Amino acid sequence: LLGLMQDWTLTVDRILDHAARWHGQREIVARTVEGPILRTTYEELHGRARRLSDALLTLGIAPGDRVATLAWNTARHLEAWYAIMGIGAVCHTLNPRLHPEQIGWIANDAGNRLLLADICFAPIVPAIRAACPSIERVVLLTDRANMPALDEALCVEELIAAERGTCRWGGFDENSACGLCYTSGTTGQPKGVLYSHRSNMLHTFVVAQPDALNLSANDVVLPVVPLYHANAWGIAFAAPMMGAKLVLPGPKLDGESLLDLIEREQVTYALGVPTVWQALLQAAVAAPHRLASLQRVLVGGAACSDSIFRAFEAHGIRCIHAWGMTEMSPVGTVCAATPDAQPQQLRKAGRPPFGVDLTLTDDDGAAVARDGEQVGHLKARGPFVARRYFGFDRDATDDDGFFDTGDVATIDAQGFVQITDRAKDLIKSGGEWISSQQLENIAASHPHAARVAVIATPDPKWGERPLLLVQLHAGKESCADDFLALFDGKVAKWWLPDAVQFVDEMPLGATGKIDKKQLRRQFASR
Ligand code: ADP
Repeated sequence: LLGLMQDWTLTVDRILDHAARWHGQREIVARTVEGPILRTTYEELHGRARRLSDALLTLGIAPGDRVATLAWNTARHLEAWYAIMGIGAVCHTLNPRLHPEQIGWIANDAGNRLLLADICFAPIVPAIRAACPSIERVVLLTDRANMPALDEALCVEELIAAERGTCRWGGFDENSACGLCYTSGTTGQPKGVLYSHRSNMLHTFVVAQPDALNLSANDVVLPVVPLYHANAWGIAFAAPMMGAKLVLPGPKLDGESLLDLIEREQVTYALGVPTVWQALLQAAVAAPHRLASLQRVLVGGAACSDSIFRAFEAHGIRCIHAWGMTEMSPVGTVCAATPDAQPQQLRKAGRPPFGVDLTLTDDDGAAVARDGEQVGHLKARGPFVARRYFGFDRDATDDDGFFDTGDVATIDAQGFVQITDRAKDLIKSGGEWISSQQLENIAASHPHAARVAVIATPDPKWGERPLLLVQLHAGKESCADDFLALFDGKVAKWWLPDAVQFVDEMPLGATGKIDKKQLRRQFASR
């Protein structure tokens, strides 16, 4: 017997339709790549996105075609997302921080037909096109006055001006693909994760909840997390679904520029990776009052150190820790302050929201006890977890439908997950594991530490030993012993890093996380 409720396909175009109808005058404020700050509304963005959809259809884009974007967090980029997805094409967010050849490789792997790019990326477009012959046209996200010289490039404002926005949005299967995002390749070749309308819609319903990302129409949200990083952590859908005001930082992600936007637009909620927050906190040292409107910060993408928690708490800002990955749309766990949570549990990665099923197993696949002590491989399943990578002919899940996240973790009796490491970053010393993240958390508590990383270096006796790498704050001095003293009484003696190496600049990967692959290359033969 089937239920007798209406069919209402879960396609994401409905989200922007809703925002335009019910929160039409709510603002979107964006720092543009051209420089000035642009103010628009959901109603206006919706109208422009629909006209851009018309233009894409005129250019011959059909359902299922992949259309790439190469852009910062701006209103035009958000418009492009909905314009592409609304007509059943697939929005493939390219990461501009990668090397142009690698961007070209990824674009080619995806079979992109069109590339929509910010003007600042015009210089690398020829290299991308050389590596990706399937790109037929390039559209620059600007107006005629700001168009750089680029052969045959189209101007998005001209395309929009020529259309009326009469095309139909939606009307296709909710299981159709709508977004494509490649893992940043931190641990191997980039692989494409192909989201469906349904998976994104379900993810949005889940993450907007109070104990997840907790978004409301009352919020002024600053997603520092780029639209190209792990499905923008769901914010590109959740903010319009709720009618939250959006503040988009454009190309300027330094501490001072973020502080400026937070103060100017009275941002209440911001989301990003730890390295971004370190820079913001540093910029706020001289003028803490500029953070006054900020109520909460979501930290994800890499482990949040105690020092970041403490610094935000000192400003009276709630720091919420979350764990996830591109393959999970991306939210896996969020650490909500629930009545049963002890203070130390609030530093962990948190619990999964409904819709994310997690399990912890040993090397042989047997369940590991949820005692907060025993470490196991963290595996996930659910309606917004990847089943198979784009272009692969085999599923990435095991017989029980679980996807191995590649992370190792503990789960305590109350269900709080603590990520202890990536399997590939663990240090195997004398047959036992040392958690690089635990050591980093301790080292980061040094007041002069700007960035720290612990990596494995080969050792003839123990197999691998930990090496601590430290980037100091500008103008500060310290020595190895200062750092080694921090570990006293906090970890077993054999966990102590063998050496401390000071570096001028910690290499960052394409999503702003410390690039351990490069550090290992650089220091493996020490
Ligand atoms: P990439 O794997 O290329 O870095 P993602 O952005 O999808 O791309 O990264 C997901 C990974 O980031 C997770 O598998 C995990 O290793 C790490 N990560 C994310 N959030 C956290 C967190 N809160 N604590 C520790 N590690 C995290």
